[in-house]
Amino acid sequence: MTKNILVTGGAGYIGSHTVVELIQHGFNPIVLDNFSNSRPSVIDSLEEITQQKIISVTGDCRDAAVYDLIFSKYKIDAVIHFAADKAVGESVQNPLKYFDNNLNGLMVLLAAMERHDVKHLVFSSSCTVYGNPDNVYVDENSPLKSPESPYGFTKLVGEQMLDNMVRHGKKMRVVLLRYFNPIGAHPSALIGERPQGIPNNLLPYITQTALGIRAELSVFGNDYDTIDGTCVRDYIHVCDVADAHVSALTLLSASPDSCIEAINIGTGKGTSVLEIIRIFERETGVSLNWKFAPRREGDVPEIYAKADKALHTLNWKATYSVSDAVKHAWEWEKKTQN
Ligand code: NAD
Ligand code: UDP
Repeated sequence: MTKNILVTGGAGYIGSHTVVELIQHGFNPIVLDNFSNSRPSVIDSLEEITQQKIISVTGDCRDAAVYDLIFSKYKIDAVIHFAADKAVGESVQNPLKYFDNNLNGLMVLLAAMERHDVKHLVFSSSCTVYGNPDNVYVDENSPLKSPESPYGFTKLVGEQMLDNMVRHGKKMRVVLLRYFNPIGAHPSALIGERPQGIPNNLLPYITQTALGIRAELSVFGNDYDTIDGTCVRDYIHVCDVADAHVSALTLLSASPDSCIEAINIGTGKGTSVLEIIRIFERETGVSLNWKFAPRREGDVPEIYAKADKALHTLNWKATYSVSDAVKHAWEWEKKTQN
């Protein structure tokens, strides 16, 4: 029987790519989004890619009545909870917005799942929970550190809330996916990352600079103790991240009644900012205007994933290269700005 999966934030960057994967793997996604950081036209693009009608509900994750409506209408087998605010800088300016959307939103969802007896949850977490790690190659047992921002705090507390519930006997099956640095776009160039205003993240800043929308990329810091002095991250193609959610649903189906697993979603390889610039220039033939700038506050010098647990428990590993992701991001940016 086709499984109904509620996808909160399903019109967003990672959510939209996951909806495609879900459909391609025979699931029936029901998207819930308030379009606070995405556009309704994403749903049209999803229909174009999948050649299928997408069930989409416009509503807010903090609204209990919306869940009652959805859970009553569809027999939901599992929830993938993407919906959250994610701008680190904004979270420093306005922590309450982040506590409300990311933590209150999670609580309202959990209460609704309890009311409607829905027990399977995949939660979007982040490598931010490792903070500035002592060992840059982090596995899931690496210590969780005090977060650098209110945004990071909401991811850590979200994980802890879920862990607490399961440890105290709540019959729930939870997978916490700790994403490293998702980049790229769908190979069709119909969906991708669409930041509002000036991008905070590296890849959209690069592609917008290459198109002349931004004058120059600032490379934040050149004196870190890394391969070339710039920060190192584990960049992972968004379609690979999306695919991990399908594997997580399979894991949930085969898990004991009460369980929680945290799993890193990364490639296991680190790439520096300068290496990303070189890859971009090589793959696109476009020369990028960039300069060194002071370090950005809160940046961790180097972090990448030990991804063995994902391989063993999810039977998942990244299939795209960083070059693929950079190419796809470029194709998407060119199409978006046309
Ligand atoms: P995104 O902003 O593109 O997508 C989030 C979606 O949720 C958007 O469509 C937004 O409109 C929606 N949304 C937000 N608040 C909502 C609410 N109250 N009700 C209904 N819809 C709401 O973000 P993303 O990059 O796709 O990230 C998805 C999840 O992954 C987030 O939880 C984020 O914290 C986490 N994450 C992202 C990254 C990353 O680099 N993109 C890294 C680690 C973790
Ligand atoms: N970065 C940069 N210039 C930018 C944006 C990002 O040099 O305009 C660097 C940033 O300092 C970090 C890396 O690129 O070392 C990845 O940053 P991003 O914000 O994409 O992800 P983060 O790892 O901070 O979540």
